Amino acid sequence: MMARGSRVAWSILERLGRFDGGSNPPCPILMNQRDAKKVYSLLVQTYPDAREPAGKICRGTPFEVIILTILSAQTTDKAVLKVKPALFGRYPTPAKLAIAKQEDVEEIIHSLGYYHAKAKNIIAASQALLDDFGGSVPATMDELLKIPGVGRKTANIVLYHALGKNEGVAVDTHVRRLAQRIGFSATDNVTVIEKDLMALFPKKDWGDVTDVLIAHGRATCDAKKPLCAECVIKGMCRWVKENR
Ligand code: SF4
Repeated sequence: MMARGSRVAWSILERLGRFDGGSNPPCPILMNQRDAKKVYSLLVQTYPDAREPAGKICRGTPFEVIILTILSAQTTDKAVLKVKPALFGRYPTPAKLAIAKQEDVEEIIHSLGYYHAKAKNIIAASQALLDDFGGSVPATMDELLKIPGVGRKTANIVLYHALGKNEGVAVDTHVRRLAQRIGFSATDNVTVIEKDLMALFPKKDWGDVTDVLIAHGRATCDAKKPLCAECVIKGMCRWVKENR
């Protein structure tokens, strides 16, 4: 059971995080680097294939990765991979997708949800790649963030998986949930969570941290029913300590 003082401090930290617009410094780290390293090692041992991109949306050319990652919002990788052959069979390059009719693209991706906005975004992204970057995917965070539909999560995935660069930690819904539960971060603000993770883990691991946390989120730490009793990091997890 958490002491009252700790609970109050935790609550203040959480509230600070919720009102943080992203410009404030990172919240205090709850887990130290040594323990975070232990947690990460246990998860890497548990999910040895997590860092392999085979069969994932992040496998492919930089153009494919950026488009598929934009499409992956609010849906599963499996659903995105289903539309991949038809989409790139018809529009294999930014030049082809940039001049596509929106309704034709919508027809291919309609199973993904939000398909109007997604079709618009990937056409606009292709136009930006063509107009501003000579038809190539740029290799810096600043340039990637200028592309419609691309935020830091997508940019980090493209940089790491398609271009081999570690510039940040991609924070998706699994990473956000697990960072809070495990005690890597005290906020639900993705910008602050990314800063906290970058402070906690060595740069060489930033890309892999995302993949390993996603694997754990899918296999064990479900949003609604986390399987804490069989979790390999239950002895170090803040969520378990608080709910004991
Ligand atoms: S102990 Fe439970 S809450 Fe903590 S990481 Fe494992 S499954 Fe998630």
